[in-house]
Amino acid sequence: MALSQISLIAVQRNLARNRHGDHMTLKGKTALITGSTSGIGLAYAKALAAEGVNLVINGFGDAEAIERERQALEAQSGARVLYCGHDLTRTDQIEAMMQEAANIFGGVDILINNAGLQHVAPVEEFPAEKWNLIIALNLSSAFHTSRLAIPYMKQQKWGRIIQTASAHSLTASPFKSAYVTAKHGIAGLTKTIALETATFGITANCISPGYVWTPLVENQIPDTMKARGMTREQVMNDVLLAGQPTKQFVTVEQVAATALFLCSDAAANITGANISVDGGWTAQ
Ligand code: NAD
Repeated sequence: MALSQISLIAVQRNLARNRHGDHMTLKGKTALITGSTSGIGLAYAKALAAEGVNLVINGFGDAEAIERERQALEAQSGARVLYCGHDLTRTDQIEAMMQEAANIFGGVDILINNAGLQHVAPVEEFPAEKWNLIIALNLSSAFHTSRLAIPYMKQQKWGRIIQTASAHSLTASPFKSAYVTAKHGIAGLTKTIALETATFGITANCISPGYVWTPLVENQIPDTMKARGMTREQVMNDVLLAGQPTKQFVTVEQVAATALFLCSDAAANITGANISVDGGWTAQ
């Protein structure tokens, strides 16, 4: 048999394997992860870098620390990692970031909307500007990135949209009105996107973690102490882990592993879902 025929058979076998979900590769694809300079977003970036994916990372923080992280991700992935420090509470900045990603990589194959903020206060004392900020970042930014990413995904006939939602997309807690509203909203947005893109090889899903030990959780402890008149230990055990039956914080790696699964061919028929990674919180 001629060498070219043998190569052709090898290629066909690989394509057949890929169609059946094994030997799936994400190498060469591009992922944009909002809020990936810290916490869960950084864990997504590391998990996707390990698959050789090009990355667009985003978020705030110390410029030197971010550059060190960017270089480490590039070394890990062997692919290109672009940092965009755009403020995602502003529509014009989101548009600029998506344009930059398109200029460099052609488009975004995997979009992870993850940037988020929290503020803890009773409704009647909730500062209006905090409400606007949280709705803009935790909800509206996901609409804008999605509307700008979908045309390329449709063209490619492949795409993955993953939202870091929250157990608060399914249930509420007192003093978190803006956050709970935004997270319930993103669950609805995701279902709508899933229906609109279902025949284009695109999936859209929420991952809904319970309490994950990250700066976002650490930073809300002082406000919760104030709002509830509690000590730090009481907030940790009686508020944060009170509703989490496993009595353990979820790890960022566990959330990232769920995202990686959603990117695989094995998950091609999971769309419009809201996947809880919450130690049993919302089972109650
Ligand atoms: P984090 O504070 O570690 O990370 C938040 C990221 O968002 C950072 O990179 C930050 O720089 C970025 N960011 C903040 N404001 C921004 C802006 N205006 N523009 C662009 N980026 C901005 O928090 P985390 O815990 O990793 O949270 C990530 C996501 O996970 C959030 O959407 C959060 O609601 C969700 N979540 C967290 C938990 C938890 O327990 N930590 C649980 C459920 C859901």
